[in-house]
Amino acid sequence: MKQLLYIPFMAACLLLQQCSFSQQPAKKETDQKKTNMTESGKNPVYSRQSTDKVTLSDEEWKKILPDDVYSIARLKGTERPWSSPFEHSKDVGTFYCKACGNPLFRSDAKFESGCGWPSFYEPVSKTSIIYTPDNSHGMQRTEVQCGRCKAHLGHVFEDGPPPTGLRYCINGVILDFEKTK
Ligand SMILES: [Zn+2]
Repeated sequence: MKQLLYIPFMAACLLLQQCSFSQQPAKKETDQKKTNMTESGKNPVYSRQSTDKVTLSDEEWKKILPDDVYSIARLKGTERPWSSPFEHSKDVGTFYCKACGNPLFRSDAKFESGCGWPSFYEPVSKTSIIYTPDNSHGMQRTEVQCGRCKAHLGHVFEDGPPPTGLRYCINGVILDFEKTK
């Protein structure tokens, strides 16, 4: 009688051992290293903390920036209207300068302007942005540039919603977005 009970007990022990062995590799798989998704690895001036001004020549920028970012940031280009996924994005987070990492706008200051580009009514801070008169293309406009690296961002107009009445019309290509965790 004792022997009959002993055999199922041994079988149960073996099963338990097998289970614990098979779980070990699964635990290792979940212990993955966190990867840095920003472009800071390729771009030596990219920093979301530094407030030091960045002054590089166009040649140096060209080596660092992807072509589409370079053409907006340094050649004052304009992306095609309705081409930026940020225009209708409802994600909560912060928009940084894609060229240097300077915090520019928060998602809570974003609004649907219908103009074809991501639009905001105020920047993160007074020093995030530089304002320059722009009389090109027969228009009187105010250009907005990154306060840290002077990248061209877009223009600001006085037809925005409260509380500022301003509309910062920004090229999505020059924005680097990170969701709030
Ligand atoms: Zn910048």
